Amino acid sequence: MTEVVDPSTGEALGWVEPTSVEETDAAIGRAHAAFARWREVAPGERARVLRRFAAVVDAHLEELARLEVRNSGHTIGNARWEAGNVRDVLDYYAGAPERLTGRQIPVSGGLDVTFHEPLGVVGVIVPWNFPMPIAAWAFAPALAAGNTVLLKPAELTPLTALRLAELAREAGLPDDVFTVLPGAGSVVGERFVTHPAVRKVCFTGSTEVGARIMAGCAAQVKRLTLELGGKSANLVFADADLERAAATAPYAVFDNAGQDCCARSRILVQRSVYDRFLELLEPAVRALRVEDPSREGAEMGPLISAARRDRVAGYVDGAKVAFTGSRPDGPGFWYAPTVLLADSPADRHWREEIFGPVVSVLPFDDEADAIRLANDTEYGLSGSIWTRDVGRAVRVARGVEAGNLSVNSHSSVRYWTPFGGMKRSGLGRELGPDALHAFTDVKNVFISTEE
Ligand code: NAD
Repeated sequence: MTEVVDPSTGEALGWVEPTSVEETDAAIGRAHAAFARWREVAPGERARVLRRFAAVVDAHLEELARLEVRNSGHTIGNARWEAGNVRDVLDYYAGAPERLTGRQIPVSGGLDVTFHEPLGVVGVIVPWNFPMPIAAWAFAPALAAGNTVLLKPAELTPLTALRLAELAREAGLPDDVFTVLPGAGSVVGERFVTHPAVRKVCFTGSTEVGARIMAGCAAQVKRLTLELGGKSANLVFADADLERAAATAPYAVFDNAGQDCCARSRILVQRSVYDRFLELLEPAVRALRVEDPSREGAEMGPLISAARRDRVAGYVDGAKVAFTGSRPDGPGFWYAPTVLLADSPADRHWREEIFGPVVSVLPFDDEADAIRLANDTEYGLSGSIWTRDVGRAVRVARGVEAGNLSVNSHSSVRYWTPFGGMKRSGLGRELGPDALHAFTDVKNVFISTEE
């Protein structure tokens, strides 16, 4: 049995039985059998079932959010957004089954048409930082395209996924179409990679594990989507609205206690406004409400575990601390938001993904310098550009090697626009109009019309 803990108190919430290899194999077998039936369900009916699933999630939104607050330490505001995001992603892809059209391509001597065929069983492996949305970004389009899904939540945060599986049944999803298998990555996750009946793996997590999974999938030429780490830049030019840039920067990195692959954890500030920006940033960081995440208005909760808190602290030891925010006393895995000054881009805290509430700040000289420093990383997930010059915004957005950029804003995720990373941040895209095709293979059929 695996203990599940409330990170804001450190107290046990309950126990979850991990799935064994044998049980995983049996579940894969059942999902494979269910695929033959699910793919044949009429598109309109598949759409109706997914809309019902969205409606049941909506009816349980507050319950799901409260469960996430307890299991993951997310603020109640964030957790409500996350449960709502599951509903919205389901609703969005519920519109897909009847629209999954192929093409008719002109040929002589016959008719040529393409079909988007579902792949089969899709294995989804989710990390602990956003248990609900990351799961939904894979299972909703996968189910809409006619696949069956096995979902493995992270060991630390299985509770909302298990509840979503119950809600799916309540909504009328047929048996074995969507199954949640809590357990170890090295057991359940590995089996998704090695079992030939699992035809695609969607992995979100660390770059290190993702690279191993990619190597494992290669043996079977298994389809794969990877959403991995990040070390995103927040570029602040001298001509920006500095007040807004400074007021919003803490949320761009300390949201979810910095345990966000899109966290803008490197702030690059043009040298002429560097001091002024830090002056404006300090009160914004100090004002951040770090408190019991179940309180309305809480802006940051605890870290997920004691191990993560110790790891984060290891990056701050010996570094130049500019200032910090607050943290509650008492039990729980708390860490105060921390702003570090980088001496150079070689600093460890500047280069490595910390995955906690720590941000590093470094000055730059001009536009070319800003782009060079932003790209001086193995990652390429997201980033922000603050400037009032439209031409510069476009040039820099084209120059920064990252999958999701925002100008004068820090938004990364909308369920109807694509999301994913460049370089070692990932492979493939989730969400948006094209993600559906990542759960299908194109089949071309030529029909002769010759007599
Ligand atoms: P992790 O890689 O340790 O674990 C992620 C998931 O993979 C867990 O469910 C785990 O059980 C499973 N797993 C572990 N070893 C496995 C194996 N050998 N085979 C199959 N599955 C295995 O990552 P984590 O510590 O849970 O999450 C933090 C990391 O995730 C950070 O690096 C972060 O940047 C990244 N992340 C990326 C995104 C994104 O969209 N790009 C989103 C969230 C998190």
